[in-house]
Amino acid sequence: MFYAHTQNAIIGYTCEKSCVETSYIMRFEDKKHFDKKCMEGCTNYGKKWSCPPYSPTYSSFVKDYNYIEIYMLCIELNQFSYIKQDYLKVKAANSILKSRIDKALREVINENMFYISTGSCRLCKSCNKKSGKVCAHPNLHTYSFEALGINVSNLTKDIFEKELLWYRKGYLPNYTSVVAGLLKKDRIKNSRVLEVLDLLN
Ligand code: SF4
Repeated sequence: MFYAHTQNAIIGYTCEKSCVETSYIMRFEDKKHFDKKCMEGCTNYGKKWSCPPYSPTYSSFVKDYNYIEIYMLCIELNQFSYIKQDYLKVKAANSILKSRIDKALREVINENMFYISTGSCRLCKSCNKKSGKVCAHPNLHTYSFEALGINVSNLTKDIFEKELLWYRKGYLPNYTSVVAGLLKKDRIKNSRVLEVLDLLN
């Protein structure tokens, strides 16, 4: 168990990890389908360099890497009783998980590694795309699995035998999760991400 110290509470969360060949994940790729879903349902569509339609396919993004460590982080939502509205509980939980895993991944990458983030790129306060400028950090910015066209629900069921649960009006799931990846050229074991998560509070 890892712990996040917030203003209101100490929140516990889990992080599961699995390492597979990058090619294994290609079975979950359907870029056309997920680009369409983003276009129909996301306000970021076409407004960020890290989002569809500008994001590449998973297959082309990972072509220089042989292995991927997948990270699935989960928070039990009953820890957010100090927040009244259910959707704000999910928002707070996701924000805790996203900021921590993205920070840990950014800290461990080197010239032989890169990462797949938990959402659109947040390296700049406002993405340069909105003002019609080129990306400010073309060698550092990254993409989420969804933006690369990966069906994350099927991926987590297959790899961790765990479902993604979704908030609906009137229904607060037991937990919420985020999924990220660390791309590597070799299979050498790496525990740095978990160590960094342990140090973050
Ligand atoms: S680095 Fe900045 S400009 Fe580039 S995708 Fe990320 S937020 Fe946008």
